[in-house]
Amino acid sequence: MNRLEVIKGDITLLDVDAIVNAANNSLLGGGGVDGAIHNAAGPDLLAECQKLGGCETGQAKITKGYRLKSKHVIHTVGPVWYGGSRDEHALLASCYNTSLSLAKEKKIKTIAFPGISTGAYGFPIDQAAIIAVNETKKFLSKNSYPEKVIFVTFGDSSYETYRKLLEK
Ligand code: ADP
Repeated sequence: MNRLEVIKGDITLLDVDAIVNAANNSLLGGGGVDGAIHNAAGPDLLAECQKLGGCETGQAKITKGYRLKSKHVIHTVGPVWYGGSRDEHALLASCYNTSLSLAKEKKIKTIAFPGISTGAYGFPIDQAAIIAVNETKKFLSKNSYPEKVIFVTFGDSSYETYRKLLEK
């Protein structure tokens, strides 16, 4: 089975075991994919997030998916891009690693990631996609869960960027 896939579309619509949210440190919702996930999941998601006490950059926390088709949401906080000198690469790698480790712990079979940090947080997509794909490949080579990882791109050229990386 091919364990890596890239698709174009809205991550909130996917029927998977977990979708990953590009959250902020408060975990109390925001714009972009975070707002879309909270809108689609409904107010119970915010209520659960309020009990989590926030999340450090580069870390991840898991909740239920509520009204989403996805059973879980893994909230990870990507780094804001300051030009690359503030540990942004390592922090983004950590987002993928901690999210995948949580998925493994919960025996999650299918998980979908948006481009963490590549929207409002300004991480250059080419560099972010390399980190996403490399970290995920490394993790999957050592672990049998999650079985499948889907990268979800949102209506722009990043689809081609991921596709080329996955071909390698
Ligand atoms: P960040 O603050 O981590 O940069 P954003 O939500 O601003 O997070 O953007 C992260 C990525 O998610 C961007 O590439 C954006 O295009 C994408 N995105 C926004 N909404 C959705 C959605 N509904 N499904 C999938 N990807 C989305």
